[in-house]
Amino acid sequence: MSFSELGLSAKVQAAVAAAGYTEPTPIQAQAIPHVLARRDVLGIAQTGTGKTAAFTLPMITMLEEGRARARMPRTLILEPTRELAAQVEDNFVKYGVNHKLSVALLIGGVSFGDQDAKLTRGVDVLIATPGRLLDHFERGRLLLTGVELLVIDEADRMLDMGFIPDIERICKMVPFTRQTLFFTATMPPEIQRITEQFLHNPIKVEVSRAASTATTITQRLVRSGKKDFEKRDTLRALVRGADSLKNAIIFCNRKSEVATVYKSLQKHEFSVAALHGDMDQSARTAALTAFRDGKTQLLVASDVAARGLDIPDVSHVFNYDTPHHAEDYVHRIGRTGRAGRLGTAITIVTPEDTKLLSAIEKLIGQPIEWAGDAISDEEASEAKRERRGAGGRSGRSSGGRGEPRGESRGEARSETRAEPRAAEERPARRSAEPRATTRAERPERAERPARQPEAPVSRDRGSARPPASEEADMSHMPQFLLRPVTYRGK
Ligand code: AMP
Repeated sequence: MSFSELGLSAKVQAAVAAAGYTEPTPIQAQAIPHVLARRDVLGIAQTGTGKTAAFTLPMITMLEEGRARARMPRTLILEPTRELAAQVEDNFVKYGVNHKLSVALLIGGVSFGDQDAKLTRGVDVLIATPGRLLDHFERGRLLLTGVELLVIDEADRMLDMGFIPDIERICKMVPFTRQTLFFTATMPPEIQRITEQFLHNPIKVEVSRAASTATTITQRLVRSGKKDFEKRDTLRALVRGADSLKNAIIFCNRKSEVATVYKSLQKHEFSVAALHGDMDQSARTAALTAFRDGKTQLLVASDVAARGLDIPDVSHVFNYDTPHHAEDYVHRIGRTGRAGRLGTAITIVTPEDTKLLSAIEKLIGQPIEWAGDAISDEEASEAKRERRGAGGRSGRSSGGRGEPRGESRGEARSETRAEPRAAEERPARRSAEPRATTRAERPERAERPARQPEAPVSRDRGSARPPASEEADMSHMPQFLLRPVTYRGK
C-alpha cells in the first residue's frame, strides 16, 4: 500500500514524501481513509506505531477547505502532557509545510497572553492539555462550538492521570455533530465506557502491541543481587559492555530511584540526564532536548514521565527495575526499535522480581532470554521465604541503605495503590480520586510545577486513601488535637 491510495491531498502527500516515508504504517493505512470519510475512529495503538500521523495527515487534508474564525478553533486535539502536545505540534509543522495552517498550543507553563492572542486571530488546530483548555474556556476566551473534529489521544494515560472527568466535560462542550478520533493503547473499563458515550458508530482500528514490539527489539534479562549498589554495579557493567550503544533510556520504578541512579551515573562520569514527574518544566525540556540532540547519551526516567514520548532512534533500553506492571514493560521497550529500526532492551532482574517477570512474559506471550545465568526457581523461592520471614505487611524493610530497592516508605506504598503509574506525576493531587476532583484541585495543576509544593502528599484533601506519608500528614486531624499539651505537675 502507498500513501497515494489513502485519499490524502497532493500537498499532504508531498510533505509525507519530504519526511522520507514511503509506506503508511498499519494504523495509518487502516485509519486514514475512515477519518477522511468523516467517520469516528477508535484507534487502539501505542506510540511508535505512527498513530500521530494517522490523525494529523487526514486532518491537514480536511482543513484545506474552510477557514478559522476568531476564538473558534476548527479542530481540537487533547493530549495528557505538555511534551506530547508539543510533539503533535511538531507533526503539524512537519506535515503542514505546504499549508498555511494556524496551530495553537494551550499547555501549562506557557503564558496565557501569547496563547490568547493566537486564539483571537483564529486557529485551525488547537492542541491542548485538558486543564489549560478548561482554564481558557472558563475565562471566556474560547468558544468550542466551531469544533468540527475532536482528537482524544493517549486516553488510557489520561485515565492514569485523572483527566477523565475533564475529558467528559470537554466532550459535552463541543458540538454533538463533530467527528471524534479516539486513541488509546489499552481498553480498561473506564475507557470503554467513555468510547461508548462519546463515539458514534466508530470504526475500530487495532494495531497489535506484541507484534509492534517484538520484531525489531532484542530482549534480554540479566540477573543481579537485590541491593541498590549491586543493581547499580550491574547497570554500569551493562552500559559499558553494550554492543553498539548509541544512546539509552534507563527506566526506574520510582522517582527517588531516578534521582539516585542519575547521581550515581554522573559520579561515574557517564553522560546522563534525568526525567521524572516532579522536575519543573524547564528542567524536563532541557533533559529531553539534550538527549534528543545527542548531547547526553543516557536518560534515566520514570514510566510516567517517559510514556508516549517520541524519541526516535534510541538504541538501548535498560530496565534498572523490573516494572511492577507488565504493561509498562511493553511501553518501556517500545522506546527502542521504533519505526523499523533495531533496538535492544535489557531488564535487570533480582530473585525478588521473578513474579513480575512471569507476568511480563505472560503478557507478551513469550519467554525472554537470559544473558548469562538465569535466576533459578530455588533462588526465587528463597527470596520469597526471606521476604515473608522479614515480617511486615509488604515484607520489605524501610529506611536505611541496603534495603530492597532503597525505596522510601511513602513511595513504596503509593506505588502499590490503585493508580500506581500516575502517582509520581501528580504531586499536588496524588491521592485525589479522579471522580471526586474539583476545580480547585484539578489534575492539571500537576502541569504547573512552578506553583506546586515540593512534598505535597500531606496536602491531599478529600482523599479516600491514607496519605503516603502518614507521619507527616496531619490534615485529617481536628485542630484542637494538634495543640501542644502542657502537663502540670501534681
Ligand atoms: P508515533 O507513533 O506517532 O509516535 O510515531 C512514531 C515514529 O514513527 C515517529 O518518529 C514518526 O516520525 C515515525 N513515522 C510515522 N509514520 C511513519 C511512516 N509511515 N513510515 C516511517 N516512519 C513513520
